[in-house]
Amino acid sequence: MASPAPAVDPQLARYSFQRKLDEIAAARGRATELISLYVPPGKQLSDVMGYLRNEYAQSSNIKSRTTRKNVMWAIESIMGRVRQYRTPPANGVAFFVGSKAVGADKSEPVTFIVEPPEPLNTYLYRCDSTFYLDPLLDMVHEPELWGLLVIDRAEATFGFLRGKRVEVLRNKQSQVPSKHGRGGQSAHRFERLIEHAAHDFFVRCAEIATELFLPKKDVLKGILVGGPGGTKEFFVKEGFLHYELQQKVVQPLFDTGYTDDYGLKELVDHATQAIHGLEIVAEKEVVQRFLNEVRKADAGLAAYGATELAAAIDAGAVALLLVSEGLRKNWVEFRCASCGYEFGRALTESELPKVAAAPCPKCGGPAPAVVSSTDYVERLFAKVQASGGEIRLISTESEEGDMLVKAFGGVAAILRYPMPRSSGMASQASSSA
Ligand code: ZN
Repeated sequence: MASPAPAVDPQLARYSFQRKLDEIAAARGRATELISLYVPPGKQLSDVMGYLRNEYAQSSNIKSRTTRKNVMWAIESIMGRVRQYRTPPANGVAFFVGSKAVGADKSEPVTFIVEPPEPLNTYLYRCDSTFYLDPLLDMVHEPELWGLLVIDRAEATFGFLRGKRVEVLRNKQSQVPSKHGRGGQSAHRFERLIEHAAHDFFVRCAEIATELFLPKKDVLKGILVGGPGGTKEFFVKEGFLHYELQQKVVQPLFDTGYTDDYGLKELVDHATQAIHGLEIVAEKEVVQRFLNEVRKADAGLAAYGATELAAAIDAGAVALLLVSEGLRKNWVEFRCASCGYEFGRALTESELPKVAAAPCPKCGGPAPAVVSSTDYVERLFAKVQASGGEIRLISTESEEGDMLVKAFGGVAAILRYPMPRSSGMASQASSSA
């Protein structure tokens, strides 16, 4: 029986996706010979194959022999990949195939297949000297879920903001009579009637909010509330909402002109900057917590530098690992053929050749061979999560995030308990992480 795929941490998924896009974006063709193909969910694959066969026939007219050969190979290769699917995957699939330039006059075939985290909505074929990534770049950020509510005394509309997409969930019209057409009733009595109807409307709106938002409370980043005039403030301040939703309401509330579907879009437009600000504030706070530890005598519960981190991770002592989104390193393992010494290093692509050429650090013999190379951040995620620690990806958009990269090499930890300090400065190297 097939076991269900293990749940991938959403932060790690986001990091791996970004890293893959970086790699695809770096490929350059010697000519217009890199093919990008986007197949949205629901697209008939027989249509796609028909299109590719036609492109294949067309490409036989390309003048340059090398380019013609490369383009025809790429299309054939994509057709082979498309044939492996019966229907497009749930979110569609993108193929990037071509001959990537490597050094003078040389190229090597590359193939990337990406099943995106959000549904593709365009069918697209492009042959260029770079791969076309715009539809995927929009998806780099984890689709966050926010509750949306626009409200005044006449109407309320509820929705979700999922990533960048607004989903309209429910519209509720009130029975509150207009203040202007009170017929023959006494002003006082009419006033009471209005307040009573408005109160009922707010109670009903709170019930709808509970029904729609409460089941999602654990994943909901917050609830954005908007509307014209003071009704929204009244509704929030008077505590109509379920207390767990009340805590999720983002301050300040936002002014919008409308309380319908269009009002939800206005709300999102106004709130986008505020949301982004909140994320950055949260990141700054996490890095500050780490820096507060660093400032303590003997660095408190902070750990940084490859050796210290490796020891802390191996001991399962990491409570929270801070990883810069910009970190691009591989964990490379070496083995010395002369003395059998094995060791690992976290290296950027440009650092690798120098380390790989150096003599064995143990016996001084010829350069040890590279045994394996894996993504460093993925490795950190696996190790820290296995010991129950948390990981937080930090952008470089704040001063604190920038400092994490420049002063601490992009990785740092807050520990569960103090670890013995290695004497002297922590070095790049580690032997066992
Ligand atoms: Zn050796």
